[in-house]
Amino acid sequence: MPLTIQHDDLLPGRNFIGGQWREAQEGRRFDVTDPATDAVFATVPDSGALDAAAALEAAHAAFASWRAVPAKQRAQILRRWNDLVLAHQDDLGRLISREQGKPLAEGRGEVAYASSYVDWFAGEATRANGDVIPAPVPGRRMFALKEPVGVVAAITPWNFPAAMIARKIAPALAAGCTVVCKPAEDTPLTSLALVRLAEMAGVPSGVLNIVTASRQRAAEVVDVWLDDPRVRKISFTGSTPVGKHLARRSADTLKKLSLELGGNAPFIVFDDADLDAAVDGLMVAKFRNGGQTCVCPNRVFVHSAVHDTFVDKLAARVSALKVGPASDEASQVGPMINARAVEKIERHVNDAVERGAQVVVGGQRLASMGSNYFAPTLLVGVDSSMACSMEETFGPVAPVTRFDDAADVIRAANGTPFGLAAYFYTRDVRRVWRLADALECGLVGINEGALAAEAAPFGGVKESGYGREGSVHGLDEYVHLKYLCQGQV
Ligand code: ADP
Repeated sequence: MPLTIQHDDLLPGRNFIGGQWREAQEGRRFDVTDPATDAVFATVPDSGALDAAAALEAAHAAFASWRAVPAKQRAQILRRWNDLVLAHQDDLGRLISREQGKPLAEGRGEVAYASSYVDWFAGEATRANGDVIPAPVPGRRMFALKEPVGVVAAITPWNFPAAMIARKIAPALAAGCTVVCKPAEDTPLTSLALVRLAEMAGVPSGVLNIVTASRQRAAEVVDVWLDDPRVRKISFTGSTPVGKHLARRSADTLKKLSLELGGNAPFIVFDDADLDAAVDGLMVAKFRNGGQTCVCPNRVFVHSAVHDTFVDKLAARVSALKVGPASDEASQVGPMINARAVEKIERHVNDAVERGAQVVVGGQRLASMGSNYFAPTLLVGVDSSMACSMEETFGPVAPVTRFDDAADVIRAANGTPFGLAAYFYTRDVRRVWRLADALECGLVGINEGALAAEAAPFGGVKESGYGREGSVHGLDEYVHLKYLCQGQV
């Protein structure tokens, strides 16, 4: 069954700048491929500096009027956008699965997840209250107001093409900011579809602008925004090296930054854990989107006393995973996003085996299915010298390390430059709080493998970045506080 899209409206295939769907000014386009087959199934503009500049002009011109729109009206537009997203859930889900490769149920699930942020920030728009501050001296009135920061540049990754757009654009629009966006080159179509729905919802011309670009031209587009003082905020989700580059290059104009970068999440199973629950949690956390999420456990630490039992249970579940394209509704693990991704996974598994790890399940490409498939893999005997312990594998590989001592495992869990998610399973309430305090990360799963929710603050520490998305704190990333002090006249 092909993943056809019923509504042509969702495939504008061009940039959206100043309320118009436009080709790249130099006329170039690049291919969008289906990772399940490597077949090209669409093309989009391969934009450059001229298009980035035009998008920025439009966003800058629209800012004064958009920030003046009453919050309630901005919220109504966001709610209409959300209604349209949900009305097209099936088509959007298919589009995500087609260009990104995740199973259809996950594609549809991602649309619901994206929608939850739009709905949430529609509500937050109307609650951007400031403060009335008790004056410390007589004769003064003191206030703090929240103001939109200005033009926001949103740069998004391919692993959640809808949710990452929603999580950045919804709070920006809610706060009264205007947006220029460059979606990931692997998954531009979902982003364009969402922008098309935003247009239909009544987002005014110039408020939301999007330009697509190939990997070769991504920097050319983004550099225009990094260098221009009118862009006041960069919201980025992606790799740590690119995040550092954005922070460095935007330093000259001192932009506000939200950076949601790579992780290296530990998943710790103590000897008193409910092992079935821990296996369930690991399966959900590890194999969702084929292991291609920044909160996927990258290192699994299991106490010696339960190691063999846990590994047996896990092996049964990992070998039962059904790998296949999203066009087969039964598929649970799809293709990886591209050749670069599969090469990294293969390098990590080979390196681990060369250094003494054993393959319990999987361990190789599934070349007969297509060039981007990798077998769900379980490794044991993994240690901290191996590449899969030090770098994010971003694939369907669960590397298990045995431990004996709680202090050692906490040290090991924290022994990385990253700090996004961490998970642990135990039934000891004292240990729960000890670990919750000791783990150096932004998100902690305690006897739970699925963490993300629009009402919760999502983000990391250390080299996993800074800033929080979602929650009552999410809007703060897109506003600054202006203090007013009124004297007696
Ligand atoms: P991944 O390795 O998972 O593709 P990246 O960090 O490379 O993650 O990509 C995330 C986003 O950053 C994408 O939209 C990509 O086009 C963009 N990007 C990649 N390199 C640069 C760069 N040098 N400057 C600006 N954006 C970039």
